[in-house]
Amino acid sequence: MSATAPPLAALSAELSLLRPRMEEVSRAIHARPELKFAEFHAVEVLTGWLAEAGFAVRAGAGGLDTAFVAAHEGSEPGPYVAVLAEYDALPGVGHGCGHNLIAAGGAAAAITAVRALPHHPGTIAVIGTPGEEMGGGGKVRLADAGVFAGVDAAVMFHPGDRSLTTQHGLAAAHLRVGFTGVSAHAARSPWEGRSALAAAQLFLNAIDAMRQFVPPTARLHGIVSDGGQAPNVIPAHAAVDLYVRDRTAASAEALVERVRRAAEGAALATETTAEVHETGPLYGERRDNTVLAERFGDTVRALGLDITAAGPDSPAGSSDIGNLSQLLPVIHPYIQIAEFGTPSHSDAMREAAATPLAHDRAEVAAAGLARVVTDLVLDPGVLEAARAEFVGR
Ligand SMILES: [Zn+2]
Ligand SMILES: [Zn+2]
Repeated sequence: MSATAPPLAALSAELSLLRPRMEEVSRAIHARPELKFAEFHAVEVLTGWLAEAGFAVRAGAGGLDTAFVAAHEGSEPGPYVAVLAEYDALPGVGHGCGHNLIAAGGAAAAITAVRALPHHPGTIAVIGTPGEEMGGGGKVRLADAGVFAGVDAAVMFHPGDRSLTTQHGLAAAHLRVGFTGVSAHAARSPWEGRSALAAAQLFLNAIDAMRQFVPPTARLHGIVSDGGQAPNVIPAHAAVDLYVRDRTAASAEALVERVRRAAEGAALATETTAEVHETGPLYGERRDNTVLAERFGDTVRALGLDITAAGPDSPAGSSDIGNLSQLLPVIHPYIQIAEFGTPSHSDAMREAAATPLAHDRAEVAAAGLARVVTDLVLDPGVLEAARAEFVGR
């Protein structure tokens, strides 16, 4: 081993120096919310900071304009450890998922690790993963493009209303169910038309009727994304955007088949046609690496944060980290930045994501990530243990 692990006090000291810049970067991203795959400002702010800190930035990684890899090569061969940064926002809500904190805190963690260990072995990188929300599947696309080839472990944290070392994530399919009918004058000759909107309504009723007969862990939820153009025209086109989630990809896929039949039934009844397609990659269920998650937990606990693993009934969302977690050891702990019970994807969470408390907590989370990163590059036993758990399925 060429270097010894920096004490937590050293990581915390580096982070307090980085705190003003971290907060500035976070607030800049928060103030200019950008939707999936259009996060140009966020990428500029983040890569500017990382380049100044000595990271070699590769923009447009994996063929995605708003993805990047910012790597700091060590002085000798060793593990490749990536901190993941998300930075996309939600339509209407802005940064109601707090990705500004993931991005700024993640970059701060990687810079801290490099400052504490300027001659580290291996590679310490920040991988900018765009388009997590709205089924964008940025991480899936990057993995498919080979961006994670050679990455030994990936770490990130997510803000929330409670602190959790591990938390199950649901598998999720992202569907658009389109109906095609026949347009006609809605008063003069409606019988000549066939309403695609009527099909969409019937389809949504069929989904409601199905709800009692799906596993209690399943979630079926959607919006009418196209309900026609004008009240006096029978809609020839209508569409429902629907997410189908459950604890495993296999169960979500089985539910998608039932959703397809519901769409066909609605089309049959209304003499329209239905077409179901996936608007993004299926998000896999999450496999947190507990070896690394516990190391993160021990670190943030030492800094005064109360954190435990989520219980089996803890409410869960979905993320493209699930797909990544099937490919390599990952962690995706949650750090409380808002009052318990504050819903994610809400105006309240957006406001919480820009408070001094949120940035205090992002600093703690960054210390936790920096600890895991430095341990992984310095101590082969840590990566070995993480890998053993990963392959032990
Ligand atoms: Zn979200
Ligand atoms: Zn999120």
